[in-house]
Amino acid sequence: METPWTRRQFLAGVGIAATAIQTFDALDPSRVFAGEETKGLFELKQVAEGVYAGIAAFQYKVNCNAAVIVNEDGVIVVDSHSKPSAARSLLKEIRGITNKPIRKLINTHFHWDHWQGNEVYAAAFPDTEIITSHITRDNMIRPGAGVGGISYIEKQIQEIVPQEIEKLKEDLRKATSPEAKANIESNLQQAEAYLKELKELKPTLPTASFGNSITLYEKGREIRLLYLGRAHTSGDVFIYLPQEKVLITGDSVIDWMPFLNDSYPEEWIQTLNEVEKLDFTHMIVGHGEVAPKDHLKFFRGYLTDLIAAVKKAAAEGATLEEMKKAVADQLAPQYEKPMSKYPRGQYRERIDGNIEMVYNKVIKKAELPDREKRQRAAYLGDPSGTTC
Ligand SMILES: [Zn+2]
Repeated sequence: METPWTRRQFLAGVGIAATAIQTFDALDPSRVFAGEETKGLFELKQVAEGVYAGIAAFQYKVNCNAAVIVNEDGVIVVDSHSKPSAARSLLKEIRGITNKPIRKLINTHFHWDHWQGNEVYAAAFPDTEIITSHITRDNMIRPGAGVGGISYIEKQIQEIVPQEIEKLKEDLRKATSPEAKANIESNLQQAEAYLKELKELKPTLPTASFGNSITLYEKGREIRLLYLGRAHTSGDVFIYLPQEKVLITGDSVIDWMPFLNDSYPEEWIQTLNEVEKLDFTHMIVGHGEVAPKDHLKFFRGYLTDLIAAVKKAAAEGATLEEMKKAVADQLAPQYEKPMSKYPRGQYRERIDGNIEMVYNKVIKKAELPDREKRQRAAYLGDPSGTTC
């Protein structure tokens, strides 16, 4: 069932929100970071001359990595994380390497943890162009498109985060050790702060979009924005710097277990085959550390082996529950350790959901009848909303 348009969606659609944010205090650098809890959230790591990965530190409410490209007359940033305070935290890190204005912001896809900080750039640099693919922009606007977009912001405010807060409070009451209590209290604080930010959020949509590709020529630096087919979502953007041999992947390649809920598993493999043809040495991935090109093979190998194992189990007549156990154990020797490097997105945390998604999308080849229910199930399986 589609969610009706809300006032917030209407404002974003007609651009009123963009006018309103001009008064935002991000324009005054002395006030921007006052009391910000997200200090030190990002570490900028140089990948090539003027090209940096903004690696997100682990937080209960997850943030995606950024890429920062410093050009002669300005800066290009890729992705804006889950909330304005995180985007401001990255901006502060950028100010440590350059005072040039942010001229362009690129959104790789519509998931909540990749674009909800867009307003920070629009407010601080009113001429900033925000660019994505046609499909991703449409996903941001279309109600019920998945775990991102304007309707998902409303859903988080109305249902998801308040329920998460209730659950954390309940967990807190049940917690026995001081360590567990402290941990839950910290998560609860983050969830409450996140809800507060969401309520103030001014969804800021891309100002430009493209079909298959667009090339930016930034005074000698060539930056290609590519749509290579469906993958992690229907509209994923790759950003390719041919001279520097760097590829920015969004969540189409990550160093965690992938999130499959809005994905097209078999097409994802084909899209990664296209990506492999590009000449690059390093990838700035959506979550986790900068990776060598070889990581693409590993990540695609996981998707390929997962789909093959689910197909085989289905052909042998296994039920979904049997499949979850058998396939998880079957793939574990090869994938459990390398897919569990970080506190979140680990193998055992996500493998059941991955098997179920492949079963639904590849074997049954059908959308579940009620998409809302599916999103709810995904949320319940991943209570901090670490869906990316
Ligand atoms: Zn994502």
